[in-house]
Amino acid sequence: MTTHKFQYTGLNEDQLTKFNQLADLLVDQNRVHNLTTITAAEDIYARHFVDSLAALELLDELKPEQSEPPRLLDIGSGAGFPALPLAIALPDWDITSLEATGKKVRFQEHARNSLNLTNFTARQGRAEILAREDTYRENFDVVTARALAELRVLAELTIPFVRVGGHFLAWKGPDPAEEVDSARQAIQLLGGRVRKFYDYQLAQNRKFTIVVIKKVTMTPAEYPREFKNIKKSPLG
Ligand code: SAM
Repeated sequence: MTTHKFQYTGLNEDQLTKFNQLADLLVDQNRVHNLTTITAAEDIYARHFVDSLAALELLDELKPEQSEPPRLLDIGSGAGFPALPLAIALPDWDITSLEATGKKVRFQEHARNSLNLTNFTARQGRAEILAREDTYRENFDVVTARALAELRVLAELTIPFVRVGGHFLAWKGPDPAEEVDSARQAIQLLGGRVRKFYDYQLAQNRKFTIVVIKKVTMTPAEYPREFKNIKKSPLG
């Protein structure tokens, strides 16, 4: 068990307890399964939990006005980031994570069951394949991705899942302007438009950015291509 306790303004006791349970699970399972390079509880709080929760204000702003729960898909979520913290913090959202590696999905399912996260589903699979399924393609209000790929590659793996009018949120480093500029054409081709840069700070005043992309038209049927082609010749 970890001795430190996670604190975050705006979360209730039950949610904070779930975050502490998640930190314990991650520390424990990581010894056996090597799920993440971030292993100390304090680092898990800052780099996984607080960094994932940086999107809360944005999600509040982007939340669609509808009676059914808004749907969020996190692609390449690894051990479940940002998907699991968002599922704890946003019980009225329906959160799905998509991850290629089986042992990471199994960890997410274990966390879901241990924390009783009924608004969370983990799915094993590859984005470029699932984007062709009707129940996934253009079916999410918000898609998120952190530390998955450079934006030209990332755009092709993510934008096809966003419904027209929805948004894609890409967690990026301190200064993504150049990376965004080189991906603008790809984003447009896929039906997206860069809407804004959302800056936030973690400890030690380090600045990070979430790039917000709005889906404005449907993604042409030929995208996403096979992964080897996306990697070999990124769009744009
Ligand atoms: N998002 C997590 C985070 O920030 O901690 C994990 C980042 S990790 C560097 C990237 C993850 O994406 C890996 O777990 C990998 O298995 C997964 N991944 C890579 N390509 C993928 C694809 N095409 N479809 C689904 N998952 C993918």
